[in-house]
Amino acid sequence: MRVDQTDYPLMRIGEKALTDKMDKIAESCTTLDRYPMSLYKCHVHEIRNEVAARLFDSASATDPILKEQYYLFSWLAVYLLNDQAEKFALVEVSERNSLWNHLNLVIDDLVNRLRLSSRPLPFFGGSFYCTGSFVYAQQGIPVPVSPFYQVSAESHDSTLFWPLLAHEIAHLKLSESIEVAEIRKELTRQNLRNEKYSERLDEALCDIIATLLYGPAYVASFGTKFWQLPDERTDEGYPTNQFRIFVMMKVLEGKHTGSWICPILENTCQINEKEARREKISILTDEMLALGDTLVRNPTDVSDLKVASFSRSISSINDGRLDYLFNTLWSMIYERTMTFDAANEAASCLLERWAKRSESLTQSRS
Ligand SMILES: [Zn+2]
Repeated sequence: MRVDQTDYPLMRIGEKALTDKMDKIAESCTTLDRYPMSLYKCHVHEIRNEVAARLFDSASATDPILKEQYYLFSWLAVYLLNDQAEKFALVEVSERNSLWNHLNLVIDDLVNRLRLSSRPLPFFGGSFYCTGSFVYAQQGIPVPVSPFYQVSAESHDSTLFWPLLAHEIAHLKLSESIEVAEIRKELTRQNLRNEKYSERLDEALCDIIATLLYGPAYVASFGTKFWQLPDERTDEGYPTNQFRIFVMMKVLEGKHTGSWICPILENTCQINEKEARREKISILTDEMLALGDTLVRNPTDVSDLKVASFSRSISSINDGRLDYLFNTLWSMIYERTMTFDAANEAASCLLERWAKRSESLTQSRS
């Protein structure tokens, strides 16, 4: 029996399953009215409308191949929407986490500094990653959806690793930046057409952007967490760790951060430029660095921080400057003037204080 025959039994079952799933997701939206989550609702409605339109087209299509394509489109879109809905459920749970306000403070800092078009919904998940409306285009179903983002912070990690969130927000920035297209064309010109090179390019670009945003603190977070991972990973979508650290160092070069970065390098990441340059995408290093400078117009400058003076009084860290906070604490850890646990506690105390203050500022404005 062919898929275009009206009595094809799987067609009716499939249609029912799809509409049921869409209704369930839409229902979850209506129970969440107490949240200012209009972005999420808008996203669900946009995808529902797209799927409904394709199902309608499928029902009226006479060409069996076209019919099948509409169906596949609908299935994939609902599958991806379901993933967004699952992540959204984690946002709800995360609101009860004692670090929820702290996390929002960091997200706001990054969104403002990168001038992201839409504020992501953060949550505590199993690792650091991001997702959102861009995944539809990535999966080959370019639906015209408004920007909608979600960002996960690894729930078991110390807040000291949160500079890694800058890398995730950078992915979101790339998804809405037309400037990236040019550098992708260059990959093709260099005969690096495989999708894995494009993915590696994104990863390296996000490292560059994150280093511009949080300076040595990003390198320290990355080095401490990932440096031990072997480069012979099965996931080919990442550049080698040697190359990743190499581009981070390139960003910091000439930014008066020498004395800051030395302990980090000595203690964790021993890089070798020749080894790093083996990475295929390294031929585009200069272009990547230039693009990073275009996308981050206010890079961090921590050159005036004097670590020694903070070792006695952590509370004197400049008001609300998250790049100062993370850099000071990481430097103290590496200079052994503070233990990791004490630095973690200091970070939480300060973030708590700043979160409270920004909350009271928002209330007094409204
Ligand atoms: Zn990444």
